Amino acid sequence: MHHFLFQCEFLDTKRKPYIQKLKSILSETHEEQVIEGIIQDNEKMVQLTVDCTHPAVSRITHKNRGKIEQTARGMIYALHRERSAILVKE
Ligand SMILES: [Zn+2]
Repeated sequence: MHHFLFQCEFLDTKRKPYIQKLKSILSETHEEQVIEGIIQDNEKMVQLTVDCTHPAVSRITHKNRGKIEQTARGMIYALHRERSAILVKE
């Protein structure tokens, strides 16, 4: 899951704007250092993306749940579409 969501280089272009958006949403409530800590934590990032209401991340996300949820959903959909498009071309 982490590879697909955050690492796969074939999906980099599609992923980038969503990661930027997530960073900017988090920056409304957290300092840079805290955000980097979250971003480098693979499990937390997967949790935040798939279900930001989960107790593992709810303390980080609770003030901006709506925005995070919307952005994360957009990212998953965009990556899913891109992956399908790549597979169809093969
Ligand atoms: Zn890959």
